[in-house]
Amino acid sequence: MPDPALIPPIPPSLPPTVRCRRCGRPLHDPESRILRLGRECRGPDDSVRVLPGEQDTLPGL
Ligand SMILES: [Zn+2]
Repeated sequence: MPDPALIPPIPPSLPPTVRCRRCGRPLHDPESRILRLGRECRGPDDSVRVLPGEQDTLPGL
């Protein structure tokens, strides 16, 4: 078991490596990382989908 002190902290919102859910290749562009789907693996339904709970709510509403 590795010493926890030797493991660098990882920001929960931005893991160092995001892999495509379909083909498993590492993703490098922000949009693909958010969707966790490579451009070549995304379909029309995947391109602009926003996950529930991640939409910004307007202040004052
Ligand atoms: Zn892929």
